[in-house]
Amino acid sequence: MNLVDIGANLTHESFSDDLDEVVISAQAVGVSHIVITGTDQKSNEAALSLSKARPEVFSCTAGYHPHVAGSFDEDARIAVRALASEDKCIAIGETGLDFNRNLSSPKSQLEVFEEHLKLAVELGKPLFLHQRDAHPEFVALLRRYREQIAGGVVHCFTDKKQALEDYLALDMYIGVTGWVCDERRGTELQTLARLIPSDRLLIETDSPYLLPRTIRPRPKSRRNEPKHLIEVLHTLARCCGRPAEQLALETSENAKRLFGIRLG
Ligand SMILES: [Zn+2]
Repeated sequence: MNLVDIGANLTHESFSDDLDEVVISAQAVGVSHIVITGTDQKSNEAALSLSKARPEVFSCTAGYHPHVAGSFDEDARIAVRALASEDKCIAIGETGLDFNRNLSSPKSQLEVFEEHLKLAVELGKPLFLHQRDAHPEFVALLRRYREQIAGGVVHCFTDKKQALEDYLALDMYIGVTGWVCDERRGTELQTLARLIPSDRLLIETDSPYLLPRTIRPRPKSRRNEPKHLIEVLHTLARCCGRPAEQLALETSENAKRLFGIRLG
């Protein structure tokens, strides 16, 4: 298998001591490429330097997460633009709207999301998008720019059927995390998974967050890692009613198509 984890926060401090081992154990189960998520200036830079050091294993994104939209100023925009122009940076983001926690004001989130959309238009790269409790505002802005942007993924999709249909109507890709393995809050996603066309489905761990709850025996550490992408794959395969091997092939092809990733 040649799986692609399209979203892992490997610049998180929890990986600072053992990233090499994390990669080795991911590769051992068939995860051959990992897109490292950039969420602020520091992680954008770290993600790019990891990707340049190991281009066959890593690619990265560059952007400002809606949580930190309040700190996105003109200097930040210039810095993101420079990083995002690099070959190893394959998408603009993480960006979008998160009205669940409103760690930045909705107003600044909307402005910063639009700045990222403009960058995606200018650079011709796809978007890595985050949306929580903000579907109406999010889809309205996305719709306005859709014809000009190269495409993108709504990562960690956890929303309702209407949101899914709206994103698919805009021909966006849908990223599924270990949320689908959650027997409490993941049930709706488990039924919606079937509605995602096989050529629009992507899988991700969102490491170190969202450790799949179905892993047996339960891991000692609460930290999620790219190797657990296998658990997402298998759960999702059951939900979709397709063999895991087929889903592995489909999702990797999709990652290659959307992001232009080359697998060795
Ligand atoms: Zn996110």
